[in-house]
Amino acid sequence: MKRDVIRQYNLPREVHFCKKCTISNQRPRITFDENGICSACSFAEFKRVGIDWHERERKLIALCDKHRKNNGNYDVIVPCSGGKDGSFVAHQLKYKYGMNPLAVTWAPLKSTEIGRKNLDAFVASGFNHILGTPNPLVTRKLTQLSFEHLGDPFQPFIYGQTNFPLHMAIKHDVQLIMYGENGEVEYGGDMKNWDSPTREIQDHDKHYFSGLPPEFWLTHGLTDCDLYPFKAPKFADVISNKTEIHFMGYYKFWDPQENYYYSKENVGFMPNPERSQGTYSKYASLDDQIDGFHYYLAYIKFGIGRATSDAAHEIRDGKISREEGKALVKKYDHEFPSKYFDNFLEYCQITSEEFYKIIDSWRSDHLWELVDGDWKLKKAVYL
Ligand SMILES: [Zn+2]
Repeated sequence: MKRDVIRQYNLPREVHFCKKCTISNQRPRITFDENGICSACSFAEFKRVGIDWHERERKLIALCDKHRKNNGNYDVIVPCSGGKDGSFVAHQLKYKYGMNPLAVTWAPLKSTEIGRKNLDAFVASGFNHILGTPNPLVTRKLTQLSFEHLGDPFQPFIYGQTNFPLHMAIKHDVQLIMYGENGEVEYGGDMKNWDSPTREIQDHDKHYFSGLPPEFWLTHGLTDCDLYPFKAPKFADVISNKTEIHFMGYYKFWDPQENYYYSKENVGFMPNPERSQGTYSKYASLDDQIDGFHYYLAYIKFGIGRATSDAAHEIRDGKISREEGKALVKKYDHEFPSKYFDNFLEYCQITSEEFYKIIDSWRSDHLWELVDGDWKLKKAVYL
């Protein structure tokens, strides 16, 4: 079976790369200006010169004052996996801005040892914390179905990561949820919230669920009970709770590398001793064994692998040059996540033949060609 990736993700047929970074126009929802610069690069430039960060911090303090309760109840929910970004947000809110946060984590599909250690270290650094763990048998089934039908095994995690904080906000009578960065704005996507601190719950299906909410899987043999932990709370409950979702990246200059140094110093965050497969970095997205397959599928569907995304961020942040970025993409982007491959097959209960059949069904003709039996990208940033 061949998928129509162009139509499904509304992709341009002609591949173009940003003149400043390594990203292409195949990233869903990204836009380019008349000079061939992507929206994420334009935004990175705007962050440096167009924003008064002292003014933004004053806004953050005003937001904290609005939500601070002084009666012992939690003031803010911080979604946090124990990674560098959520840890930075939670620690800053608690220790710099005097808030009483409740940290919430949606359990990884299949944890890594380093991820578990980092989460433990984060909680041990002084946080109240709730871990949401859905039925592992249902999670496994959803992972397998998402891999097969959506070409993204990570989708069940994204459901929980998006909806669990909303449930916890309502349950604990907390009105403020503080995420790290707005990925749509920082990394290229829908720019409608480029100058806004918040996001709308109505956009969740479009931006995070590939248009398919958890209820979709009722047609694939899962029941309402199975899907309940993955579903959003009733919209009326979100509204009557006066829930607000904000991004710390609006209020504080967002720099993942700085977040890493901060978390290492303050919450005992540890990078991997070795780089993550498919890229050169050691400190991002370490907590889930399934993660590498999420990035690998992006490489197959969009020609944009993990190194492309990492290099693009670092070029925008002025850490590396575009030439260095291109070399890193060439070296790592295609690398297969072999470390957890056997675990992945066992977890999804599929054979390697079935795995590759699904992978190849997501290779679009406008990106890929078979050359002497090997799949090759027709266009790459380094060619
Ligand atoms: Zn760019």
